[in-house]
Amino acid sequence: MEAWDWTLVGKIAWVIFILIWGGIRWRPNVRARRNPIKTSHRSMKERVLLAISFAGLGLLPGIWVFSGFPDRYDHSAHPAVVIFGAILLVLCLVLFRLTHKALGVMWSNTLELRKGHKLITTSVYKRVRHPMYSAFWLWAVAQPFVLANWIAGFSGIVGFGLLYFLRVGDEEKVMEKEFGEEYEIYKQQTKRIIPGIY
Ligand code: SAH
Repeated sequence: MEAWDWTLVGKIAWVIFILIWGGIRWRPNVRARRNPIKTSHRSMKERVLLAISFAGLGLLPGIWVFSGFPDRYDHSAHPAVVIFGAILLVLCLVLFRLTHKALGVMWSNTLELRKGHKLITTSVYKRVRHPMYSAFWLWAVAQPFVLANWIAGFSGIVGFGLLYFLRVGDEEKVMEKEFGEEYEIYKQQTKRIIPGIY
């Protein structure tokens, strides 16, 4: 058998992943825009964090995938490593789809509450408060496995890590303010990202 170019396989896996991810997010995004917002916390901090996260998970890896820049940080790709990364990406997509299904119109890409916002505590929200962030962590962690470049690989962990750690506390405060005791109880029954652990 001809030797495969595993760097290329990894790049193709990442591009397919991005396309499917976009397909999952498309409709919730359209619907969310139609749904009136009650309280918005779209601050400057939020905007900057979203931009940094986008750079790490999408822009820098995209530039490397399509142009090869910065190629001086390329490293070799091993089949098992790339396959492991691709499996993580598949898990990410499955979880991502489930979180959108569960949140429905309550979803927003920033800290906003809709008119008639309800606290979702079912499906993937039963044991974890931030399963969509769990899905993003899977993406960020998968990226260095599928992309054989130090910058394009690790930019996601840095970019999404900043968004996550600087946002999750604010998000919980907003939810606490809105849902009070209901959220307090929910907090006691759940973890943030990993069921039973963290
Ligand atoms: N942190 C969550 C959701 C991210 S989307 C997760 O990782 O799965 C952010 C939006 O979801 C915010 O507008 C917030 O109001 C809303 N949200 C977060 N958790 C929610 C829940 N359990 N029920 C309803 N809406 C929620």
